[in-house]
Amino acid sequence: MSRQTQAIIHADAIIHNFKLLSAMAPQSTSMAVIKADAYGHGAVNVARILQHVSPHFAVAIIEEAIVLREAGVTVPIVILEGAHQPKECEMAFAHNCILVTHNEEQLRWLETCAEDRLPQVWLKVDSGMHRLGFAVNQVPGILSNYPRVLKQDTVLVTHLACADDTSNTFTQTQLDTFYRMATQTGLAVSVANSPATIQWPASRNNWNRLGIAVYGGFKDESALSLLPAMTLRSSVIALRNVPQGESVGYGQTWTATQDSVIATVGIGYADGYPRHCPNGTPVFVNNARAFLAGRVSMDMITIDVTHIPDVAIGDSVELWGENVAIGEVAKAAGTIDYELMTRVSARVPRIVK
Ligand code: PLP
Repeated sequence: MSRQTQAIIHADAIIHNFKLLSAMAPQSTSMAVIKADAYGHGAVNVARILQHVSPHFAVAIIEEAIVLREAGVTVPIVILEGAHQPKECEMAFAHNCILVTHNEEQLRWLETCAEDRLPQVWLKVDSGMHRLGFAVNQVPGILSNYPRVLKQDTVLVTHLACADDTSNTFTQTQLDTFYRMATQTGLAVSVANSPATIQWPASRNNWNRLGIAVYGGFKDESALSLLPAMTLRSSVIALRNVPQGESVGYGQTWTATQDSVIATVGIGYADGYPRHCPNGTPVFVNNARAFLAGRVSMDMITIDVTHIPDVAIGDSVELWGENVAIGEVAKAAGTIDYELMTRVSARVPRIVK
């Protein structure tokens, strides 16, 4: 029997989440962000699932767009990070992609493209996050200096630093700074990611860029009926009785406080299950929660199933999904659901259901 470690990708959940989020902003056009292999769900899988409901897709880099084109995906693709070399401008044009430019060097390369080979170009605006983009007060000058590249179909794109935190007033500061300039230009704008779409109605505008919530992340914070798009599962590959006082795994970090039954499960940090998960992190087996007992190894974890009757070799174990929220595991590991999703490794087959 082959290894039972799999990421089940729930197509219905992805469509449900995308439609739910889009319906929150009916005046906007929503596009699914499918960078980083669609947050680990498989970019081609997700593009095929959403191609009839998401009018555009967004990825981080041109190589991600090319993978989609080679798989036959024809939906226009926005490259969020922009071109880093002149040849990417050519590639963007050849593959029907839109470039989000964020520095003048890129605009100068684009100026050298023949008119009939110019890709559509959007402009990244730094409204306060100070990561990428032109300062707000530079934008009018940039627009007038590159009229051949930046045209009426250019969209001004900005990104919010703290949209996941409703109590942080910096989001309103960014929105005010950005809109004050953007409305003067008459151009369309794109501001909202998932947390902003859900929590900051003023950020919903011409184009919303929806990532994490399409995959069922940001669920606890949102109180929306988002569904998990991935179930990460494996199976019990060994079982043993561990007497009270004996320890389990590397570094002897867990010691049995009673005579215990320990199940070894075929998933480890090389599959993307976080090594930082401490003892007590929940998993789900035989309709009950069991808990991590011992350090996460490269290919295996050990769980305490003393309280669960009849656990047997081959039983399915859910690491996250419907019964253990990915956010709960992320919190235990001291990280965020974005990181867990994107780190599920290539060795884990994605099975679309
Ligand atoms: N827009 C940009 C520029 C991003 O970098 C990201 C993700 O990191 C998104 C949109 C999607 O954000 P989220 O996954 O929070 O919806």
